[in-house]
Amino acid sequence: MIATHLHTDHTGLAGCTREWDCELWMSRSDFYMCKVMAADGPSDVPEDAIRFYRRAGFTEDRLDRYRQRFGIFGANIAPLPAGYRRINDGQYLEVGDREWRVLIGHGHAPEHVCLYCPALKLIIGGDQLLPKITPNVSVQPSEPHANPLKEWITSCARFRELLPPNLLVLPAHESLYEGVHERLTALIDWHEVALEKLYDLCGTPQRAVDVFPALFKSEINEGSFFPATGESLAHLHCALERRWLTVEEDDNGVAWWRQA
Ligand SMILES: [Zn+2]
Ligand SMILES: [Zn+2]
Repeated sequence: MIATHLHTDHTGLAGCTREWDCELWMSRSDFYMCKVMAADGPSDVPEDAIRFYRRAGFTEDRLDRYRQRFGIFGANIAPLPAGYRRINDGQYLEVGDREWRVLIGHGHAPEHVCLYCPALKLIIGGDQLLPKITPNVSVQPSEPHANPLKEWITSCARFRELLPPNLLVLPAHESLYEGVHERLTALIDWHEVALEKLYDLCGTPQRAVDVFPALFKSEINEGSFFPATGESLAHLHCALERRWLTVEEDDNGVAWWRQA
């Protein structure tokens, strides 16, 4: 069994390999991160994670909601096997009588596996190559200073260089499509436009929870508040590394972002 990346909608049943006595194949970062996240219990909410969301601008109410939902990752996934077989970028896998080249993308997951079959002119794109929605690119408490958006944009550009234009893409959500180059360009452009809107918004100081209008058309509801905050932080960190923005913490530990 091959899992493209660690998210529970892609690994929830990967633990079946234990019963079926078959190997689980994954990238190394995603296998171990999945194990670590699944091991978090509801009662061990770390204080640095609370500081992380307080810094982003969460109210005490919302921090309580975070405490309540902590540890749900493990509840949504069957326990993984003890070991796995590592998949590396550039490697060729033989499945049936076909060769599949492994391409690893970053930003949505630490090491997201895509499988490209030149003979079939086909790529299994997972969440890395979705046709319409932009996959969530988030900063998480586990790596609070990360810049996953930079990695995401770099991966999209690299895939566009490596893949031929005339491919059929099998994404993990929504329908198959053609035009992978156009899609990758659209994904990069979407984030570049969002970064510019973010810069404009930060003409006056903003918290991470204030900049949703730069990134999302629709209203952010309760269910999407956490991924939306992670996504805001990903854009803020990218803009910070480009030196478009600066950040300062106030006496309550809340970070305020403004134009550099
Ligand atoms: Zn995913
Ligand atoms: Zn998914």
